[in-house]
Amino acid sequence: MQSTGIQPGRVLVVGAGLAGSLLAVYLARAGWQVELVERRGDPRARRHIAGRSINLAISARGLKALRRAGLEETVLKDAIRMGGRMIHPVAGASHYHAYSSDPTLAINSVSRSALNLTLLDAAAAEANVTLAFDERCSHVDFARNEATFVNDSTGVTRTVTADLIVGTDGAYSAVRAALQKTERFDYSQDFLGHGYKELTIPPVASGPHAPFAMEPNALHIWPRGESMMIALPNPDGSFTCTLFWRHDGEGSSFAAIRTAADAQAHFRAVYPDALPLMPTLGDDFAKNPVGTMVTVRCNPWVRGRVALLGDAAHAIVPFYGQGANASFEDCEALVDALTQESSIDAALVRYQRERIANANAIADMAKYNFIEMRDLAGRPSFQRRKKVEHLLHRLAPERFTPLYDLVSFSTVPYTEAKARGAANVRAVSTAIGVAISLAAAAVITTALIATGAIP
Ligand SMILES: Cc1cc2nc3c(=O)[nH]c(=O)nc-3n(C[C@H](O)[C@H](O)[C@H](O)COP(=O)(O)OP(=O)(O)OC[C@H]3O[C@@H](n4cnc5c(N)ncnc54)[C@H](O)[C@@H]3O)c2cc1C
Repeated sequence: MQSTGIQPGRVLVVGAGLAGSLLAVYLARAGWQVELVERRGDPRARRHIAGRSINLAISARGLKALRRAGLEETVLKDAIRMGGRMIHPVAGASHYHAYSSDPTLAINSVSRSALNLTLLDAAAAEANVTLAFDERCSHVDFARNEATFVNDSTGVTRTVTADLIVGTDGAYSAVRAALQKTERFDYSQDFLGHGYKELTIPPVASGPHAPFAMEPNALHIWPRGESMMIALPNPDGSFTCTLFWRHDGEGSSFAAIRTAADAQAHFRAVYPDALPLMPTLGDDFAKNPVGTMVTVRCNPWVRGRVALLGDAAHAIVPFYGQGANASFEDCEALVDALTQESSIDAALVRYQRERIANANAIADMAKYNFIEMRDLAGRPSFQRRKKVEHLLHRLAPERFTPLYDLVSFSTVPYTEAKARGAANVRAVSTAIGVAISLAAAAVITTALIATGAIP
């Protein structure tokens, strides 16, 4: 990696999650003296990090960023390719829909914990990275370029001063909370009415996909209108299922279905093909917590020499599988800006100018994709539109690329993907309209010929 256009100094990265760990690698290789400070304990000895999801989908943007750090191969070694959606209706056989007209394209199911450990190991391997655990950021002083950390077990506090401070401390960021107390900071947080709960489909000893109980190379969806379940494969042959149900109300909601017995009965009616694959459903349902999902938007992301990055800047709902991918793109944008500009201030301005609109665009698309996954994906009309999209892409790849491909299989800015996606909707409607007109004309012509009205 090139050295920066700025004389690299000391950088404090707050939060050693996915984004903070990758950023530490980039900045260290660009010559910065990096201090990476994490609230939780050091996970490297026990090789496991508890997180907000067991696995996640990494696609083109994330892979590009990992490649830049030399980590793509390591991460893909244990990844499972998912080339399309497997739709599970309430009754009848499940059916597969490829994500792209290009069958070589797939998103990748990876273990969040393993990914975080890979990134953390890579950061720790850099000579100019110092790691600290069990230290929670409790205060940021923007005028002095300082952050204060507290060890919640011992009560010991310490203050770190740096030339640049980056808050990569996730959706409930302490660095962002400090920014919220400064003037002219726009901020919104919008909780989804749905929560999520993770469940398991364990490996099986026999069957057509053993050790997997179902087709492994697909993202499984049980679309049920207002709610849904999805399942992503794991390398050990299991699937992690995630239920997305409303927090409150009747029907499929965490308020209405509380006990193991309720869950069994509900699954028998609503997810009948999944139930036999889930021997631990009752226990998992009773034991596993309900997570919340939030969209956070804010502006600016920068105050003085303090910047936000990743979920700290833009938590989004998980329905496009892009939160981590977008956070990795942020890392690239920040290190590029520090390389291209001649002052930290200019670099931070450039970084946020490049990223805020893109973060807002993927936040919008992620919200919309929930409707697509839980409701539209199960409808024949939607599946027909997808077929038309794939046909147009095959016929004119230089003029028409479906939105899913733009988001997941390309690195065009999210703003551009969103705008082109809107234009695609019109193009597909026109194509369907033309096809219907041509079919109607053919039917009428045939009828006229048959009746002798035209020779
Ligand atoms: C159910 C679910 C499924 C998802 N699926 C996908 C997917 O398929 N694909 C995808 O790309 N994204 C997905 N995401 C989003 C993805 O998890 C996030 O976008 C990603 O983790 C953001 O990385 P981050 O480093 O910014 O935050 P995090 O990974 O949350 O890391 C933040 C770190 O900061 C630490 N921290 C917090 N507060 C402090 C503090 N005060 N001081 C010090 N340290 C602190 C935390 O302990 C943590 O280690 C999903 C999210 C959820 C909830």
